[in-house]
Amino acid sequence: MKQYHIWTIGCQMNTADSEVIANYLDRAGLRKTETAEEADLVLLNSCVVREHAEVKVVNRLKSLKGLKKSRPDITIALTGCMVDSRIEDLKDRFPWVDLFFRPQQWDVFSRWGENRGLPSLNQEEDSVPPNPPVSAYVPIMHGCDSFCSYCVVPYRRGRARSRDLDEVCCQVQSLVQRGAREVVLLGQIVDAYGHDLPSRPDLADLLAALNGTEGLLRIRFLTSHPSYMSRKLIKAVAGLNKVCEHISLPIQAGDNGVLEAMKRGYTTEEYGDLVGHIRRTIPDVALSTDVIVGFPGESNEQFDKTMEVLRQTRFDKVHIAAYSPRPETSATRNLRDDIHSEQKEARRAQAEALQNEIAAEINATFMGRTVEVLVEDQKKGKWYGRTRGDRLVFFAGRAGMAGELASVRIEKTSAFALQGTLE
Ligand code: SAM
Ligand code: SF4
Repeated sequence: MKQYHIWTIGCQMNTADSEVIANYLDRAGLRKTETAEEADLVLLNSCVVREHAEVKVVNRLKSLKGLKKSRPDITIALTGCMVDSRIEDLKDRFPWVDLFFRPQQWDVFSRWGENRGLPSLNQEEDSVPPNPPVSAYVPIMHGCDSFCSYCVVPYRRGRARSRDLDEVCCQVQSLVQRGAREVVLLGQIVDAYGHDLPSRPDLADLLAALNGTEGLLRIRFLTSHPSYMSRKLIKAVAGLNKVCEHISLPIQAGDNGVLEAMKRGYTTEEYGDLVGHIRRTIPDVALSTDVIVGFPGESNEQFDKTMEVLRQTRFDKVHIAAYSPRPETSATRNLRDDIHSEQKEARRAQAEALQNEIAAEINATFMGRTVEVLVEDQKKGKWYGRTRGDRLVFFAGRAGMAGELASVRIEKTSAFALQGTLE
């Protein structure tokens, strides 16, 4: 075992899990490779939230069949949401895969390593790399209890489990000591943090505790569920200087009938009131959301209501997905996927075109303004980073700016990013 290759698809939680795996393998003395062909261990971290992602994983797995045949000594491993309790089925489908483990089933992966003379995986130690990125992901909750009718996540990632508050604070402190300047706290319903812990701390308590971390510049959290977004949390975001004015609050649909069928637990009116309260309490807040179009039974009128919510709310960012029936979910079991794929795609494209227009208009208001950018890295000779509102900014800078707060005067804008020069 000398070299490893990790391929990751899906949400930030998968990215965070892949980082733990990479940190462990680095510590064990293995070297990361760019291609699977060079590696002794090829690990795929999968996503099955939509069929499109699952197809990509299956294609990637199939592409490794020949490699395993020509080099039977390599290990091919699969983790992520494609791995459920029916591992025997996966073994039948992909017999060239040597190891399957469910998301964060670290004991199984660690045992695999130990059997090859590697040290054990230590979650605490391996969650803090020697050189963390400027903006580091920190999962604070795992799993989800919500069972939205379309979503496979609770079936694959299990019940909601919050991490201990002190443990999270220690991890953040270590990350900052090693160079991280921003942490992005992750959870499927991140605003439900702590409900399952004995002392019942909440996300506002955790943010307040982290706000005192010396050397830490910014804190973000995602993804929030409208039903759990408390007044206390909104006040904490407004009052704590390191917590960015940026809330990711998926609405999923703009029609109450669709929301009910999705089992989301709120109405569009309640969502609107919540957004009103957030905007009154946190001036300049950036709001992002997720939307699913083409949910079973969604009529043209119901889709128009989603478009109207986008028009009225003017989100800073919207992730738009066409509904994809997923095995096990209650929508797949109980509702007919009756919107034709061309219709779904047309609705997706229409919503995206509207949102691009809105985002371009919002971003244009930054023209000529000076924004504070936390510099992350370089791409094609330009530095890039984000504003507190999560807007991507490119600019020409000087050497060694990663981790600095830069003042950038905006000279060009688009729906997707801002460009400017250093002040
Ligand atoms: N926990 C978050 C929430 O409550 O919105 C998001 C988690 S989910 C993995 C990420 C996004 O994928 C969702 O917000 C939803 O828009 C989308 N998604 C989930 N299941 C889907 C499905 N079956 N078809 C299309 N999009 C889906
Ligand atoms: Fe899926 Fe709903 Fe849980 Fe989000 S809240 S992970 S959409 S079940």
